[in-house]
Amino acid sequence: MPDLIRLSRASLEEEEKNAVSQVINDGYLGMGQQVMSFEKELEAFFSNKVNVVCVNTGTSALHLAVQACDIGIGDEVLVPSITYVASFQAISATGATPIACDINLSTGCLDIDAARKRITSHTKAIMYVHYAGSVGNRDALFLLAKEYNLRVIEDAAHSFGGYHQGKRIGIDGDITCFSFDGIKNITAGEGGSIVSNDKNIISRVKDLRLLGVQKDTDQRYSGKRSWDFEVTEQGWRYHMSDLNASIGRVQLKKIDIFGEKRRELSQLYIHLLQDTGVEFLDLDLKNSIPHIFPVLVPENTRDSLRSYLLDNSIETGIHYKPNHLLKKFLGTTCENAEIFSSRILSLPLHCQMGTGDVRKVSTHIKNFMMHKND
Ligand SMILES: *Cc1c(COP(=O)(O)O)cnc(C)c1O
Repeated sequence: MPDLIRLSRASLEEEEKNAVSQVINDGYLGMGQQVMSFEKELEAFFSNKVNVVCVNTGTSALHLAVQACDIGIGDEVLVPSITYVASFQAISATGATPIACDINLSTGCLDIDAARKRITSHTKAIMYVHYAGSVGNRDALFLLAKEYNLRVIEDAAHSFGGYHQGKRIGIDGDITCFSFDGIKNITAGEGGSIVSNDKNIISRVKDLRLLGVQKDTDQRYSGKRSWDFEVTEQGWRYHMSDLNASIGRVQLKKIDIFGEKRRELSQLYIHLLQDTGVEFLDLDLKNSIPHIFPVLVPENTRDSLRSYLLDNSIETGIHYKPNHLLKKFLGTTCENAEIFSSRILSLPLHCQMGTGDVRKVSTHIKNFMMHKND
């Protein structure tokens, strides 16, 4: 059997190992200088136009963002049904209700008109997912939010490093959340961040990540801890550790190299899979760094293609099962999301792949598509 071509994986080298060893040698593993530096470097990455707070996962970033908007029991948050269940759980963790909305079939992102129809007097925010690194109709999103005075929390887990209209994703939003889990555009092992220029949100999430202990962040960044402190609301143990931050700091320096690679591999897929019956999503490869490479395949072929590829040592994924079909989140219908989910197939995409791997995957897909009706 040839080696499995994996769907996704991290790209780690000596430099990351050395950074982790250094933290271990220094002997302080909690939240300290490494996290502080990672946050500063991320702020510089966003042209110092926003503040950045790092947490232990992308999911907790989303959870804290919702809580910091004073959203909770009795409130509703609109969210596309096609997303990782993390988006939904982050909303329901606050006591608020995630309202699943339909998506646009050509981008996989929230359908703004469908979302508009689900706005009620309880709607407080829209959680907008950058599916596969695409911004979708982000301009219409902000117009809708303005019209109804809604907060916008962008789940930009798929689009770290991407741009929209000349600005890096994160710079001109309301609140933007990123994930640095093991397979994202950059990794910290596990990790996430909340990005905003709203000072109130930033100071809230700084406390919330440390069990609600007020101003504990400042103490920890100066090598101390708070012993006499005040707590006024439910907080969580969501801070990032120096171990994770040390990995993230090395990875951040490589984002341009990673971006180039992901774009190059995606372009090659598009080139090789033309005229095979596979459809591509609307991707703006000039401005985005695709985290995944999903394609739409003809109805009733996805599962057989998927097992054919696996038989040939090629791993693929399904991003995602619609969340409105999960027992916990039943309630609305989203027609496009169901069609999309039955036809979508994510092809291997990560920075450890070479163009030869893309050629191999494409050749097998071509073969399958040619003979699928035999
Ligand atoms: C990865 C991901 C998350 C959650 O991030 P974690 O760091 O894994 O908690 C949320 N939303 C989407 C769309 C993701 O892909």
